[in-house]
Amino acid sequence: MAQDPFLMTAPGMTLTPPAPPRPTTGAHGQGRPCVITRRATFSASHRYWLPELDAEQNLARFGACSLAPGHGHNYELLVVMGGGLDADGMVLNLSDVKHAIRDQVTAPLDFRHLNGIWPEFDLDRPEGQLPTTEALAQAIWHRLAPHLPLLGLRLHEQESLWVDVLGPSPSSAPVSSQQRPTMEAFLSIRTHFAAAHRLARQELSQEANEAIYGKCARPHGHGHNYLLDVTVRGPIDPRTGMVCDLAVLQRLVDDLVVEPFDHTFLNKDVEHFATCVPTAENIALHIVDLLAAPIAATGASLHKVRLQESPNNAAEVFAETAQLGMLPAAFAALASA
Ligand SMILES: [Zn+2]
Ligand SMILES: [Zn+2]
Repeated sequence: MAQDPFLMTAPGMTLTPPAPPRPTTGAHGQGRPCVITRRATFSASHRYWLPELDAEQNLARFGACSLAPGHGHNYELLVVMGGGLDADGMVLNLSDVKHAIRDQVTAPLDFRHLNGIWPEFDLDRPEGQLPTTEALAQAIWHRLAPHLPLLGLRLHEQESLWVDVLGPSPSSAPVSSQQRPTMEAFLSIRTHFAAAHRLARQELSQEANEAIYGKCARPHGHGHNYLLDVTVRGPIDPRTGMVCDLAVLQRLVDDLVVEPFDHTFLNKDVEHFATCVPTAENIALHIVDLLAAPIAATGASLHKVRLQESPNNAAEVFAETAQLGMLPAAFAALASA
């Protein structure tokens, strides 16, 4: 599959300088590149249970997800594709897209128990993998890639948990023809906290602060219900199917951010903001600084923190590089789908 950097702006990728515009080679935009998305849903159950562990070990490792006979989710899949337009003004005929997703994904998975449904999830095989969201996204990628010009997949297990995959990493060649290359995944969790703040620089007068920060500089502060998305990146474990231990990740975000920030006046209750103006940007940056090292200790990398302050404004910080060129345009479009 040709991966044109002109089309690819996704998490983890550095945007290369855009290629010079291609000449239009025909009517209806023929030849010009475009990214398209298609959404599909299915419901399925699964259970996290490794046969090499006993009941107690499975419970300790996977918590309630290990309970028999399993539990289910309403999954939402977003398929991102790209390519040059054809003579009909389309990247692909949407009915071909629909049929490929139905035949390869929703028909085999909808209303099924994922463990064992595909050979990837047969845990009696040494290469079998738990059907986590990461592993499921990877398995869906391998099934759709021969049929569609995939750029990325986003799979939502629930509103507060989703995974993005962008295809096999270029360095991970399969060891044998039987084996599929391993993939990296971007795992995101969403949580929230409520907090008050006041935007003002201590060294400036009230008048000067109001000139900069407007109503946000009023002396007694105001509050927001902050929505926090934390995205980690890493290889998918061949056995557990996980990028990192989800319970550990959720605990880190709770202990280091939600618990100390929730129901506080940030300027007074969180030491960092005694001297640093708690704009959405500064709060997101501080969250990156709080989480990066503890998340690295779990074996994954903190990729991005997105802090939504209100329906109208959000700040995003990419933890691995400061380059603004890494804006995940394709997935930003998906997020608002
Ligand atoms: Zn589950
Ligand atoms: Zn505010």
